Parts: sequence; structure tokens; C-alpha cells
Amino acid sequence: MDIEPQARYDALVIGGSYAGLAAALQLARARQKLLVIDAGVRRNRFVSTSHGFLGQDGRDPSQIVADARAQLLAYPNAQWLAAQVRKAHANAGEFVATVEDGSMVRARKIVLATGVIDELPPVEGLAERWGRSVFHCPYCHGYELNQGSIGVIATGPNSLHQALMLPDWGQVTFLLNGKFEPDAEQSAELAKRGVSVERTKIARLTDAATIEFVDGRRLDFAGLFTASQIRMASPLAEQLGCAFEEGPMGAFIRTDAMKETSVPGVFACGDAARAAGSVALAVGDGTQAGVAAHRALLFG
Ligand SMILES: Cc1cc2nc3c(=O)[nH]c(=O)nc-3n(C[C@H](O)[C@H](O)[C@H](O)COP(=O)(O)OP(=O)(O)OC[C@H]3O[C@@H](n4cnc5c(N)ncnc54)[C@H](O)[C@@H]3O)c2cc1C
Repeated sequence: MDIEPQARYDALVIGGSYAGLAAALQLARARQKLLVIDAGVRRNRFVSTSHGFLGQDGRDPSQIVADARAQLLAYPNAQWLAAQVRKAHANAGEFVATVEDGSMVRARKIVLATGVIDELPPVEGLAERWGRSVFHCPYCHGYELNQGSIGVIATGPNSLHQALMLPDWGQVTFLLNGKFEPDAEQSAELAKRGVSVERTKIARLTDAATIEFVDGRRLDFAGLFTASQIRMASPLAEQLGCAFEEGPMGAFIRTDAMKETSVPGVFACGDAARAAGSVALAVGDGTQAGVAAHRALLFG
């Protein structure tokens, strides 16, 4: 799509995945003139099945997005641009976004649904297996391991929580890898949950989910989990002056219960605006943000 020169939209939704599509759907159904700009780099692009979203369990996550997008674009007042927004700022009571080709979009309200990026631990062979045999969310991919053996690769103190949860999905070995050392109380908690602890450093991951240790030993697992650190997928919230909150995995955009940020007229939803996310939560947040943005258009 070409943007009309000087086009002014009621709402601009940046990010057209689960959160952005849910926000856009509410705005489209409220007959607002709306543009979604999406760079198409979803957080779960590494997986072939998505789990835990009602009515869509086990589906290809790209198909969920494709269906939602087709349904959104059936509304004539909704437009789509496949591109990256480089900059956004407030100007004279509206917002101006600069797209990667230099074109400008003006809108009365903005919804940020730009998601996060996972910073993975620098273990050889891990990044290639992310979303295939290495995961972060047991609710998303734990069940499919069929109660097999699970390795939890420590990244820091947050990994204790993962190691204590995962025994509900299989027999757990906590691979400390020099990143965490449980104290006596934590060791007792791990023992109570039947978790084995392995202190030898990891050399690399091989095969489907095999750990090779620096001493040459190998352990095969049905699947591996690790706690990624997250960072914003775009600098737009920062550019707009939105306040952030610190979560256990990294910073996220602060919003009120209506998903409005600290900057009036800027809404945020999905992974970018919560401590930990999922498709279902992104859709719920997006729905709230879309309704709130519409109400703000009406009532200021
Ligand atoms: C390996 C893995 C597996 C997962 N499996 C599951 C699962 O089975 N079930 C589940 O519920 N959740 C799962 N998740 C979590 C799920 O992916 C996220 O919670 C969900 O994608 C969040 O949706 P979102 O719309 O907030 O962000 P995303 O889906 O990450 O979408 C953000 C969108 O914004 C776009 N964007 C960012 N910046 C810009 C910009 N400047 N301009 C234009 N567009 C921009 C991106 O390109 C992207 O399209 C998984 C995550 C990972 C990493």
C-alpha cells in the first residue's frame, strides 16, 4: 500500500501481530480511519505450532496472524503497510511517525504493539534450536515433551523459578553452567521437587536437545528450557517519552488498566507492555488498548 501524502488517521497501530491486530479490530469495528504498520518479525516466528490460545491450540502461529489480518482488512476503513516505523513523536496535538522509506504518517492516537526481542544465553548451538527444542515457556511447549527428561539451562537467579516449575512437565536436570549457585534453602526446594543439579559447564548443544559438557560427557533431553532476557523490539516508546517498568526478564512499557501509557494518547499492548506474555494475553491487551484508544478519540 502507498500512504496518501499527508494522510491523517484516527489511529495508527504499530505492530501487526496478535496484540496489534486485536487493537486494530476494535478500532476498525468502531469505524475509525486506521492504519496498521507492521515489520512482520513476530517473537514466535521460530515455532511451527502455537499452544494455549483458546480455539487455536496447536495451530501454526503464522496462520493465526494471517487469518486475523484477512478478517481485519475486510473492513474498508482499515489499511495495512508492511514496513518498519523508524521514529515517532508528538506534534501539535497529534502523533507523527516516520516510516523506513522516509514517508510520514499522522494520527490522533497511537497504539504500540511492537513486541520484544529475546536475548538468548551465549551457549553454542542454542540459538539454532530456539523454538524447536529450546523454549522459555512451559505452558506453550512443555506438554509436547510427553513427560520426558528436561534440562533447564541457568542464566541467573530467575532460572530457579523455571527449574522448580518444570517438574510438572517431566524429570528436570538444572544445568547451572556457572550462572547460578543455589543456597541451602534453594537446594532443599529443588530436592523436594526431585530436580537433579548439574554444575559442570556446558560446551555446546548438539543433535535435537543433547548437552555436551566441557568434560566430554553428554546428556540427552526431550527438551531444554532457558530464561531469556527481553528488550524492546523498537525504540518508539522511548522516543515518545513513555515510562517503563522493570520486570524480572527486562523493562516493559508502563500502562494503566486501560493500556494507556504515561503519555496521553499513546496506548501499548502485548509483550511490549507486560512483564511476561503469551498470544492470548496479547490479544486481551490489544482488545483493551483498541477500545481505550477509540474512547480517547471520542472523549479526549
Ligand atoms: C520460541 C517462542 C515460542 C512461543 N510459543 C508460544 C505459544 O505456543 N503460545 C503462546 O501463547 N505464546 C507463545 N510465545 C509468546 C508469543 O510469541 C508472544 O507472547 C506474542 O508473539 C506477543 O504478541 P505481540 O503482538 O505483543 O508481539 P509480536 O508477536 O512479537 O509482534 C510484534 C510485531 O511488531 C512489529 N514491529 C516491531 N517494531 C516495529 C516497528 N518499529 N515498525 C513496525 N512494526 C514493528 C514486529 O515486526 C512484529 O510483527 C512464544 C514465544 C517464543 C519466543
